Amino acid sequence: MDLDRLINEEYIIDYEVKDPKLRELINYVLRKIPDEEREDFPMFSLYQTDTTDAEYAFIIPGDVVQVFFNVDMLEDGSCGNDDVKIGVIAHELAHVYLKHPHTSSGRKGLKNEEEADSLASHWGFGKEVKASRRKLGPPT
Ligand SMILES: [Zn+2]
Repeated sequence: MDLDRLINEEYIIDYEVKDPKLRELINYVLRKIPDEEREDFPMFSLYQTDTTDAEYAFIIPGDVVQVFFNVDMLEDGSCGNDDVKIGVIAHELAHVYLKHPHTSSGRKGLKNEEEADSLASHWGFGKEVKASRRKLGPPT
């Protein structure tokens, strides 16, 4: 998708990711998502967090979906491997697209995780999703 259009047409409301490397990877993922998917995205904002949460990334639903990426955890967990980080980013954006709720547990949660991985793979991130599963374990 065209990043400028995503911002100008207000799909992306806030883009508060200051870490240059992480921002570059998020931009890469957004640009690679097929353009025809754009209209089905809800409004969303992107943030970075470095709190010692136990999550690499998480989503807070709302009128504007808030997506948080944990810079330090992603760096440590991936051992600096970009494919692993790209897999996580694509997975989270798939949750946004599919309008999944924040918390996921039980069978419904697992189904959502598989759907997010499947969509991310469909967008062209199959290799990266596999890399992130190998390195980080089951999806959250
Ligand atoms: Zn997930």
